[in-house]
Amino acid sequence: MLPGTASFVCLADECGALCCRAPYRVDLDEAESARLIPLAEIEEHGAVSLLAQDADGACGLLTEDLRCGEYALRPRGCAQYPYLLHFEGAAPLLMRDPACPGFVGAPLSLEEWGELLDGIWRLQGGRG
Ligand code: SF4
Ligand code: SF4
Repeated sequence: MLPGTASFVCLADECGALCCRAPYRVDLDEAESARLIPLAEIEEHGAVSLLAQDADGACGLLTEDLRCGEYALRPRGCAQYPYLLHFEGAAPLLMRDPACPGFVGAPLSLEEWGELLDGIWRLQGGRG
């Protein structure tokens, strides 16, 4: 994604909260597991911890009105979705999930793009 790309507007009511359902899954690190244990069912698969999904494949924290029931506490992977930083050598490339239908907003200005890159960089902890 570069400046000029359409900006993101979440269209959960139209897509049915696609990203909160299988085959997407939410992996949790230790801190995320600790803060969500009182609020959600967490599955342990060896060293991997996941937010449990219901029989229909929806995240257990997804509400009936297609919102995140713990938005302020949601895991990092959810907070940075639908963006991802991919590294080509040392250079970070801002990528988006093409499955998300929300890239329909006004084109990103250079300043907005820079702020977005910084925000995703912080969320992703500089990891590629
Ligand atoms: S982030 Fe994208 S895929 Fe997820 S609910 Fe919003 S529009 Fe749908
Ligand atoms: S934690 Fe919230 S944002 Fe993440 S998948 Fe579950 S409902 Fe969606």
